[in-house]
This record gives sequence, C-alpha cells and structure tokens, in this order.
Amino acid sequence: MATFDVIVVGAGVVGLSTAIAAQERGLSVRVLDREGPAAGASAGNAGAFAFTDILPLASPGILRQAPKWLLDPLGPLTVPPAYALRIAPWMFRFWRACSPDRVAHSTAAQTALMDLSKAELEPFLARTGTQAMLRKAGNLQVYEGEAELNASLPGWKAREAHGIAFRHLTAAEMADIQPGLSPRFTHGTFTPGWYSIADPKLYTLALAEYFVAAGGAIDIAEASGLRPVDGGVEVLTADGGIRRAGRAVLAAGAFSHRLARTIGETIPLETERGYNTTLPPDAFDLRTQVTFGGHGFVVSRLSTGIRVGGAVELGGLDLPPNFRRSEAMLTKAERFLPGLKTTGGVQWMGFRPSLPDSLPVIGRARTTARVIHAFGHGHLGLTQSAGTARLVADLLTDRDPAIDLAPFSSQRF
Ligand SMILES: Cc1cc2nc3c(=O)[nH]c(=O)nc-3n(C[C@H](O)[C@H](O)[C@H](O)COP(=O)(O)OP(=O)(O)OC[C@H]3O[C@@H](n4cnc5c(N)ncnc54)[C@H](O)[C@@H]3O)c2cc1C
Repeated sequence: MATFDVIVVGAGVVGLSTAIAAQERGLSVRVLDREGPAAGASAGNAGAFAFTDILPLASPGILRQAPKWLLDPLGPLTVPPAYALRIAPWMFRFWRACSPDRVAHSTAAQTALMDLSKAELEPFLARTGTQAMLRKAGNLQVYEGEAELNASLPGWKAREAHGIAFRHLTAAEMADIQPGLSPRFTHGTFTPGWYSIADPKLYTLALAEYFVAAGGAIDIAEASGLRPVDGGVEVLTADGGIRRAGRAVLAAGAFSHRLARTIGETIPLETERGYNTTLPPDAFDLRTQVTFGGHGFVVSRLSTGIRVGGAVELGGLDLPPNFRRSEAMLTKAERFLPGLKTTGGVQWMGFRPSLPDSLPVIGRARTTARVIHAFGHGHLGLTQSAGTARLVADLLTDRDPAIDLAPFSSQRF
C-alpha cells in the first residue's frame, strides 16, 4: 500500500493550495478528487479576492432583508419547499449567529483570516507562477437611492474600524470608474482593495499543474470514508481502494461533512447554492466588479467572459439546479447595465460550502489529530485559499498556526 505524508481529499482551490503549501514544507502529498481538479465551486465562482468582505453574512442586516427576498421565488435568497425542513436547524443556528456579540466575534475572526490571506496571496501566486492572473480593479457596490446607501453605512463603519479602505461616490464619480450604469443607481461605494483572478477555473487548473510538476500526484477516486490507524490515517474509496498517509486534509468543499461523519464528527455544513451565466468577453465594457447588493448578484470581468451571478438557494446537494435563477439575474443585469449583450451565455450552478456563522472550519478534527479540516469557506473560498493553505501547512508541520484557530474549530457548534 502506497504511503504519503499527506493525502488531501478535494482538488478545489482550497485543497490544491493546501497541497502546494504542504509540498513546500517538504512533505510528500497526494490529492484525491472524484472528478479531478476544479470540478466544484472553485471553477465557476466570480473570481474575486474579496478581502474587504469581513462582515459575516449572518448579521442583523441580512435578517432585515431576508423576508422581502424570500417572497420572490427567483430572488437573491430562496429555500425550495422540498428542502425547507432539512435546512431548518442550520437556519436556526444562522439566526443565533446574528446576535451583535456573535457578529463582533465572527468579524474579528474573519478579519484575521482575511489579513493573513491577503498577505499570503501574492507570494503564493509568485511561487506558483500564476501572478499574471491577478487583477487589482476593485469593486463597485451600487445603490438605488440614498436610503439604500444609508442602510449600508453601519457596515462600512464596521469595516472602517478594521482598517478597510473605501470611498462613497456620487453617480458622476461612479461613471468615471464604470461608465454605462443605469441611472437608477444614484450612489456607490468603491473598495480598491478587492482583487480578482483572471479566471477561477484556469487558476485552479494552473495550481494542479504546478503541484504535479513539483512532484505531487492527483488521483481520481471518490473518498467514502476516513479511518485513523496506527501511525496514520486511511482514506477509503468508493471503488474499494484504501490509501494510507500520515495525515489527511479534508477539503471536499460542500461534501466535507459527509466524510467528517465517518470519523465521528457531526458538523453543520450546508450549501448555499449559487448560479451564474458567463457571457462572451465583448458582452460589456466592464472595468471593475460591480456588486448589486440589493439584488444579491455581481457582474465580473474574467479573461474568458463577463460573468453575471450570485444568489443563494438553500437547496442542499441533491435537488436538480433551477437555471431560471441564472436567467432572472441576467434579465436584471440587462436592465442595470443597458447595452449588455445577453446572448451566447453558459449557465452554471455551484455549491458554496457554508457554516451557519459564515466562518470556515480550519483545524484538527475533534476525534483524531490525523485529520485536518479545511472547508466551509462559503462565499470566500477563493479569497481565503492562500491563508487557509498556510494555516494547514502550519498544522501539518506542527508549528503554531499563524492566527488563532479557535473561532474556526469544528467543535464550536
Ligand atoms: C456563484 C458563486 C460565486 C462565488 N464567488 C466567489 C468569489 O468571487 N470569491 C470567493 O472567494 N469565493 C466565491 N465563491 C465561493 C467559492 O467558490 C468556494 O468557497 C470555493 O470554491 C470552495 O473551494 P473548495 O476547494 O473548498 O471546494 P470545491 O471547489 O467545491 O472543491 C471540492 C472538491 O472536492 C471534491 N469532492 C467532493 N466530495 C468528494 C469525495 N467524496 N471524494 C473525492 N473528492 C470529493 C469535488 O469533486 C471538488 O473538486 C462563489 C461561489 C459561488 C457558488
């Protein structure tokens, strides 16, 4: 039986970044994925390094918005009736995470992880030869009227307290940054510290290529369980195989809780399903990412096209996608960016791996120090990938982690 220092389960951006960071510490690493690199959420996301997004989704603001959003079956937030009972315990925990003290706690933890991720990102891109994919065009959040801007001000004040740079803009100032917005957007906020990647799928594939060129191996097999054994851990696969390593990293995105269960851990991981449409590159002259916060979606320029997407559907892992949600966002985008060419698009749905308090799980498993968790990054997995990789490499090499991991423990629930 082949033995490695580390097996990473999941070849998304989190798993591959982690595999590379472990490899850089001199460990022999194998990655296992049931489909191969970039098969999950890491392929189709909006490509943003949203370092300024330190406020948890679980917050009083979302509780105010949610009832209105839930009334629209194709709106920014939906719960399909077929999944409503299943998601109820997670929603209860989400609601509890919205109390002011819990929000303050999550914001502090998220800020620490963001600061680390930002500091780690550019050196990581340089080492992996992917720095040419980085863009620094910022993000423009737009508002329909002064009341919407005013409602957002407490959030900006909280970001300011954590040192995040932004500036509020008039319609004329917005037009300098992004011409062609509908006049219904009268105010905006620009955050220059929001970066993006040329294309998240190409980036994840480039990481896989780098990992293999540096001596790593990627196996295509479905993990069905983890089993601690003397001196190591076994990863069992659905085809009856067994792979053994000193330690395993669980980075299977929204599916990670199923594998955590096999080592006796119950973790309230759910998925916030998201949708998008990627239009041809000439669909619009987009100069920065534009966030339509009141409508729950963003428009992003990738090297491969203009991506219109977002929304949250609390529909679990098994229901079929409802691409009318992609269409609904595209219809709105056409109104918000007059002149947007909406033909020739490709639709996609992906599973954001989400914990109720909007923080990921990073750290040793409760039941065995042989398994390290690295999943549950929700809306921010690309953003936090380099920071997570650094933290997991610290744990794998028995160094003190770069930040306090208590807020990210799987035992916090
Ligand atoms: C619409 C949308 C927009 C988003 N925009 C952004 C953004 O702009 N910026 C940002 O930072 N984040 C964004 N996100 C979130 C981000 O995409 C995720 O947080 C991130 O991709 C999670 O990465 P991951 O590696 O943990 O999971 P994934 O990319 O899902 O990878 C998990 C991998 O595990 C594999 N796997 C699962 N189960 C098994 C098993 N049993 N055996 C073997 N392999 C298994 C899968 O095949 C998959 O390849 C967005 C998400 C969505 C849906």
